Amino acid sequence: MSHPHDGIPTPEEMQRQLQGMLRRNFSPTQFQSGTRINASGDEEPAPGFEDGWDFNRRPREVKEHLDRFVIRQDEAKKVLSVALCDHYHQVRLARAGKASPHYTKQNVILLGPTGVGKTHLIRSVADLIGVPFVKADATKFSETGYVGGDVEDLVRDLIRKADGDVARAQYGIIYIDEIDKIAALANHSGRDVSGRGVQTNLLKLMEDTEVPVRAPNDIAGQMQAMMEGMRQGKTGPTTINTRHILFVVSGAFGGLEKIVQKRLREAMIGFASPSRTLAGEQPALNEVQTRDFIEFGFEPEFIGRLPVRVICHPLTVDDLFQILRTAEGSIIRQYEQAFGAYGIEVRFQESGLRRLAELAGEENTGARGLMTVCERSFRDLKFELPSTAVKSFEVDAALVNNPAAALGRLRALHADEEQKLKARQVHEFGAQFKAEHGLDLRFTESAVESILERAAQSDRAPLTVCRELFKDFQFGLRLISRNTGQQEFVIDREAVLKPDHVLSQWVVASYRQTPAGE
Ligand code: ADP
Repeated sequence: MSHPHDGIPTPEEMQRQLQGMLRRNFSPTQFQSGTRINASGDEEPAPGFEDGWDFNRRPREVKEHLDRFVIRQDEAKKVLSVALCDHYHQVRLARAGKASPHYTKQNVILLGPTGVGKTHLIRSVADLIGVPFVKADATKFSETGYVGGDVEDLVRDLIRKADGDVARAQYGIIYIDEIDKIAALANHSGRDVSGRGVQTNLLKLMEDTEVPVRAPNDIAGQMQAMMEGMRQGKTGPTTINTRHILFVVSGAFGGLEKIVQKRLREAMIGFASPSRTLAGEQPALNEVQTRDFIEFGFEPEFIGRLPVRVICHPLTVDDLFQILRTAEGSIIRQYEQAFGAYGIEVRFQESGLRRLAELAGEENTGARGLMTVCERSFRDLKFELPSTAVKSFEVDAALVNNPAAALGRLRALHADEEQKLKARQVHEFGAQFKAEHGLDLRFTESAVESILERAAQSDRAPLTVCRELFKDFQFGLRLISRNTGQQEFVIDREAVLKPDHVLSQWVVASYRQTPAGE
């Protein structure tokens, strides 16, 4: 059966044909069509997951876990903890065959600017619960699924994250960022109309649908599954149900606050309520209602599937300071480890952390600014310090304000040790030369000085300078050694300044001293 227009079969037709071909050509008794996993995961439980996974936590416990990783956002952490506990208790009931038919899934809509911990919150919760987590941007999806990604790929990504364990993937968390970008504002001309189509596709996923475990156009994957099925005598589930997958959508929702404020103002005028003023109250977003989201451009059905609304607030400089100082997994630990790998101890002072936080605040990208600022402050130190004698240093405000000057001070403090360390590299070169060519190079003090000067001038390591200066020495020296039996050569200042000239003089002289009889 071919496509009516161009004679090319559709992926579904191709799959049917392939299945038919495999059935005809291989033992029919070995091949069974795929079994379906049902919503409660009863039919084909994956042994590891079904045996080991259980959810028995309370909201306060979940919040306390989040407190370790996420600074501030207290209200968000509370609301999320409750929603997640509800959701996974419901999953547990469903797995025991006691699912409530009236339960509304606690999908979440997260509002807040970039870099304030939205993803961090959800990822931390997924880790705690032990379910797979995937994140994508809503902007990558198109209505048809051809140009951008297909929303169903999100579910397949969950399976990948669960190492192919469909049973585990069906309880995973799907996080979709930039959801505000697919709101099709009714009164906004030029807005991508496909936003509505993407909302409809996502809506289907959020409800209760079966998604093929392999994409219809993934022919290689389809074939592999069939072959595995034949080998093992049965195939795994071919579809995954989305009923228990938790959806979290998020965005900055610029403009939504205005919509809420306008509604609140109108309500105030309507009821002429003098006791209510907007000024000085909590941000208007706290009062966001379904109708505001609809005015923003969401379909009522779509927003109706997201009953849990969580607001994450912008982070202050003090919050950023606390993130650096106390959050588990703080970026500071990363720097301690990076320097530690070279045996260098970094001690972060309060003044240094505060200055980093202040500079990050100026970036206006939430905690992401911390990464930018740290990278900028430690870039040169990370490059230079591992090759110096510095074994520890303190990060204070002065260092953050001017890392180059701090690096200069550190080097000056360790200048003597550093010279020794560098001189050692020259002798190291001698040792390497001996190991490779069996000849001794003895460097005089003035030769070492001269090599170090040259290294400093060209900003290269002394070892590199030696390799370049004496790169062909073995040929001449071997010749001399053959002529005179000499094994040890003294490299003085002149040999450093004019290596080729000195070597050729030595070679010429060696012919004059050739031992008698040769
Ligand atoms: P977004 O709100 O844009 O999803 P993320 O959660 O991805 O931001 O934050 C980026 C990074 O910044 C996180 O990986 C985390 O390390 C850090 N971070 C952001 N907010 C917080 C916070 N409130 N507490 C601790 N770390 C945070």
